Amino acid sequence: MLDRAIAPDWHGLAADLQADGRLLIDGDWRDASEGETFTSTNPTDGSVICDVASATPADVNRAVAVARERFDGGVWSKMHPRDRNKILMRFADLIGQLSATFALLDTLEMGKPISEMLSIDVPGSILTVRFMAECIDKVGGACPTNAPGALHYIQRQPLGVVGCITPWNYPMMMACWKVAPALAAGNSVVLKPAEDASLSALLLGRLFLEAGGPAGVFNVVPGVGATAGKTLASSMQVDRIAFTGSTGVGRLMYDYASKSNLKRVDAELGGKSPQIILNDARDLQKAAAVVARGIFGNQGEVCSAGSRILVQNEIHDQFCDLLKKEAEAFVPGDPLDPGTTMGPLVNRAHQTKVLSMIDNAAAEGASAFVQGDADVSSPDGCFVSPTLFRNVTNDMTIAQQEVFGPVGAVIAHDGIEHAIRLANDSPYGLAAGVWTQNLTSAHTIASELQCGMVWINGYMNGDMTQPWGGWKESGHGRDKSMDALLENSQTKSVWVTLDG
Ligand code: NAD
Repeated sequence: MLDRAIAPDWHGLAADLQADGRLLIDGDWRDASEGETFTSTNPTDGSVICDVASATPADVNRAVAVARERFDGGVWSKMHPRDRNKILMRFADLIGQLSATFALLDTLEMGKPISEMLSIDVPGSILTVRFMAECIDKVGGACPTNAPGALHYIQRQPLGVVGCITPWNYPMMMACWKVAPALAAGNSVVLKPAEDASLSALLLGRLFLEAGGPAGVFNVVPGVGATAGKTLASSMQVDRIAFTGSTGVGRLMYDYASKSNLKRVDAELGGKSPQIILNDARDLQKAAAVVARGIFGNQGEVCSAGSRILVQNEIHDQFCDLLKKEAEAFVPGDPLDPGTTMGPLVNRAHQTKVLSMIDNAAAEGASAFVQGDADVSSPDGCFVSPTLFRNVTNDMTIAQQEVFGPVGAVIAHDGIEHAIRLANDSPYGLAAGVWTQNLTSAHTIASELQCGMVWINGYMNGDMTQPWGGWKESGHGRDKSMDALLENSQTKSVWVTLDG
């Protein structure tokens, strides 16, 4: 949380903000070919931020053709890796210089508290670009032990054109997670950001050019998913789709790929992640604080939100009391106020969906011990306050479906085996938390969980070396870490006959 005394006048800065919503194709800023736009709206008060160009299929195809031409021409793909590194490092520096602008853009468009932008999204984005730039010449091929009379080497080469399709919940950071490894590996990129929050993606495109990135290597085409996103993912000229979003739309990506050129699809999808609390957790107070942050941070609009809280019977009531107390720290308010811990949800439709899931959970028999609701004093804002349910069974909708809002469900368990069974009884498999002092329990549970990420006695902490992604219907791609770089390249085996 920021100290109000030293924080800038965010409202003043917001009033002066000049956002550019035009498409970025081949280094040029342009309107959509048919002049179409959509309106970017502030979910805090319903005010209009600006009009954003809505890319048509022709615009997307143009961006892809330019990206392909640049790739084939080698201006980026064949640039010396150290030179690519220098440009990406400059890119990271420029992002850092505009930290406040990036923070404002995402906060205004999707409602995230400005303090979270400054402590998580902006530094996380800069770190991503730097990490991927540092890794450029650290990833190599191999030269396996040779057969007599032969030399065999395996090269890693870029894929070509990578289409990135990103969600609105971490607009800037998700764009960096996708774009930075794709560029670092030498690919050209076309990025289609989410309709609700496109402006920070466009600013990233501008700064890449300012950093010396060649025009047409990184293009940004905001637009409607079913039009612009579908065109990108269906293109015969795109070699890979790097997608983050809902599981439903993620399925479509595989469909588009199968009906076009069988491009690679790496998808980061939804989740319903369990937090397992055992009797012997060392500090229940701390666990409750971290668990609450894992549900209510970013208004619960987090893929890895630990929204299924599996608590051992003996400490169930005590833990619910602690959790209730921690929930009080999350009070919806003006996200531009540095003291605010929770902003509005992204838009009215999403607010309505979250409120109806709360009603439905009660109708199915769950008991709210923290009751969330819309904020009647701010009818123009899309606020929903925290909700916690108990008396939940794992087959209830609230335990099976992603809410993507500030709603947690506490489920009682009677020990390790039961907890593992409940945790894995989900179509999703993104993340999990385990709280125990016992090493054997911790590692046994971690080993048995069907998910891509496990935190023990913590949640969502870590660094760039962690491969980020899921199992099962949470998708199979990996962001962050060397894995992301590897997903943006392919191997080529070269077998040389030496006596030929
Ligand atoms: P979404 O699936 O609605 O949209 C994601 C992107 O896909 C947007 O750019 C959208 O315009 C585009 N899109 C929508 N329909 C499309 C179509 N028919 N064809 C092509 N593109 C289309 O998701 P969202 O609401 O923006 O984001 C929330 C979801 O993202 C949640 O389910 C969340 O769990 C997930 N998410 C996952 C991760 C992760 O790392 N696993 C991270 C962040 C968010």
